[in-house]
Amino acid sequence: MEIRDLRSFIDVLESKGELIRIKEPVELAKAPAMMRESDKMDKPAPFFEKIVGYNVPLVSCLLSNMRRIALALGVEREQIIHKLTEYLDHPIKPKIVQDGPVKEVVVKKNIDLLKMFPIPVHAKKDSGPFVSSGVVVARDPETGRLNLSYNRMEVKGPTKLGIHIDPWRHLGDFYNVAESRGEALPIAVCIGLDPAIEIAAAAKVPFDEFELAGAIRGRPIELVKGESVDIEVPAHAEIVIEGRILPKIREPEGPFAEFMGYYGMHPAQPVFEITCITHRESPIYRTMLGASWEHIILGNVIYREPVLYKFVKHVVPTVKAVHLPPYASGLLALISIKKENEGTPKNAIFAALASHVNIKQVVVVDEDVDIFDPKDVWWAIATRTQADKDWLIMPRAFGHPLDKTSDRGVTTKVGIDATVPLARKAEFERVV
Ligand code: MN
Repeated sequence: MEIRDLRSFIDVLESKGELIRIKEPVELAKAPAMMRESDKMDKPAPFFEKIVGYNVPLVSCLLSNMRRIALALGVEREQIIHKLTEYLDHPIKPKIVQDGPVKEVVVKKNIDLLKMFPIPVHAKKDSGPFVSSGVVVARDPETGRLNLSYNRMEVKGPTKLGIHIDPWRHLGDFYNVAESRGEALPIAVCIGLDPAIEIAAAAKVPFDEFELAGAIRGRPIELVKGESVDIEVPAHAEIVIEGRILPKIREPEGPFAEFMGYYGMHPAQPVFEITCITHRESPIYRTMLGASWEHIILGNVIYREPVLYKFVKHVVPTVKAVHLPPYASGLLALISIKKENEGTPKNAIFAALASHVNIKQVVVVDEDVDIFDPKDVWWAIATRTQADKDWLIMPRAFGHPLDKTSDRGVTTKVGIDATVPLARKAEFERVV
């Protein structure tokens, strides 16, 4: 089955037992707890056919585990790391088409976002309903190239949202240029997409992320022109919210559930004003829970595992597998190697810590340990390490400022060599 939009991906997930249709009506306020259980307990993604008070169904947790990422990419689980590396090197430019299903309904008047779509309050102390799965498409005011990004957006009025923009990212650059000219920055927020576009939007690349989505699919992504903004959007999106980020305005925004599993507070943020909404007939609203595995996989795992693999492979060619488990928010790196020298686990630790600034703990195990099973990893730590000899503590390196135990990001890193001594290998033969 070929995936070209959200609907065809839902069909694929359903056929593999990875999605469940909930037919009975559910109150919008109750849906996030059901999504969170599905995400954390590795249950099928919930598709809420009837949210009370809405004619638009709601879906979430579509990319909450690597099995679904593999289905989205159309590859085997073990190939993901290598395939992502390949896609990054072979971008395919998108193609502009005249019309597409996202234009079936065009709404320019009487817009009221919260009445139109079931946008939930995702976590107990979130400051309000957030648009969290929207891929923001913007055009670089200087070069004209498009950029895709995720930005949390708090709904503040019928046509008004707050938008969180990190100044050091591409959208931040574009907004700074527009604002310095006293101009608003036009954007289009695309919701309910081919997962290739959702996955590509999570990458940091020097080109238009639609080209990365094209590489994943092996063909150009089809785009149509916006109605009220000079921006192209996916022709097969479920919903597109067009508008402008206003210059010189900052308002309080958040808290919102962040990837470390805590609520994130930030300085006041810009405001986004809606100019037009287009959507398919009978659209599906797609959301992502903050601090969910889906959120962490897209934001902190999927494009960091290939870099981790590359760095470790560079110094330890016998590396078997690497993993950044989402249950540790991207801070923990797990590595299995075929050990050929007593010192190589330490080299693997150094390489892992160098591969991304967020990585704070590294565990290296032998190839008989399954790094995708936390029980197996803890068994190895418990039975194969002595802390004074095998735990390497590296104080006061830079990590992530959202780490609440850090001193504004200055944090202590630890590497655990849980491999067995080569000379005593026979004693450590596992019971089978
Ligand atoms: Mn970018």
